[in-house]
Amino acid sequence: MSTIVVPERPTFSFELYPPRTAEAEAGLLASLDPLVAAGPEFISVTYGANGSSRTSSLAVLLRLLAETDIRAMAHLTCVGSSYADATRLIREFLDAGVTSFLALRGDPPAGAVEGDDFLGDLHSAGELVQLIHRVQAEREQFSLNDVPGFPNAKRLASGHKVTIAVAAFPNGHPRSRSVEQDIDTLLAKQAAGANLAITQLFFDAEDYLRFVDQARAAGVTLRILPGVMPVLSAQRLRRIVDLTGERLPTDLLRALEKQDSPEAQARVGVAHATELARRVLGEDRAGLHLYTFNRHEAVLEVLRGVGLLDPTMSPSPARSERKDHV
Ligand code: FAD
Repeated sequence: MSTIVVPERPTFSFELYPPRTAEAEAGLLASLDPLVAAGPEFISVTYGANGSSRTSSLAVLLRLLAETDIRAMAHLTCVGSSYADATRLIREFLDAGVTSFLALRGDPPAGAVEGDDFLGDLHSAGELVQLIHRVQAEREQFSLNDVPGFPNAKRLASGHKVTIAVAAFPNGHPRSRSVEQDIDTLLAKQAAGANLAITQLFFDAEDYLRFVDQARAAGVTLRILPGVMPVLSAQRLRRIVDLTGERLPTDLLRALEKQDSPEAQARVGVAHATELARRVLGEDRAGLHLYTFNRHEAVLEVLRGVGLLDPTMSPSPARSERKDHV
């Protein structure tokens, strides 16, 4: 069995989403510099249901590649694409210089629900992992055969390791019958060639730690990065639980609702995420993947709280929620 590779020092990474309005884009740009300056291992960029954010996702990834040294990770999904479409998209990302992917089945697009037939030719993240490997191998061949016009192919052929991450669900995917089924799915994704896992958000450290123990016992050797989200208001907590199907953490909800200002709610959310991060880092040390909502303040406070941020970086307290970010 291959050994589990854990970095000496816990690393951290961030997730961004492609902005949909000019105002949201300005907000993202203002947060990008401080996020990059924090020195993440990578920054991932989500992909909208049904390819709705293809152009804007690629724009954020290209900006990261052009203006920073940070590894840019593209989320890709199976939703609504034919085999040929998915192949074209992977080629486009590889040729643009993206060599890290998070391969996902994808959320149902607007108007569809779980159980509807909203996927295309690919039916699971595991199949997408295999396709990314195949397209990468094709790009390597282009380079070996000196096919002109493929700037990234050289990098791929010279042994640059493509990262293919997949999702993991400490509390079970809403569609799965049991955590065992989720672990089997993760094992299948590992066998397909995934080399990193990132978890759905969770609110209790024990859920993550128990899942990692069960996954290891079943033979999962992938690094399993815990996904942590500072939730800065009761309204957002309800929305997140709705979207992800996670259990509502009633203690956190009550603590948020008790506060008499948005600023006080934000402090409660950051304190909760910091404690969660401290627990998972103490026990597992795989690192942290922080859901940012395209804002830097809260996630940097969490990192500062767990000692992963260079202390010379100037503090900027987490601001309360902006209405357009729920
Ligand atoms: P898979 O691994 O293919 O399977 C998901 C689960 O479904 C499995 O655990 C298994 O239990 C169950 N399952 C699979 N096949 C079957 C079957 N035939 N019968 C019964 N059960 C089955 N979505 C987006 O659209 N865009 C994003 O950018 C995005 N980013 C994400 C980032 C992270 C870190 C996470 C955790 C999720 C993200 N999602 C995103 C959501 C994700 O696409 C959904 O949760 C999706 O429903 C599952 O994706 P998967 O890759 O885990 O799917």
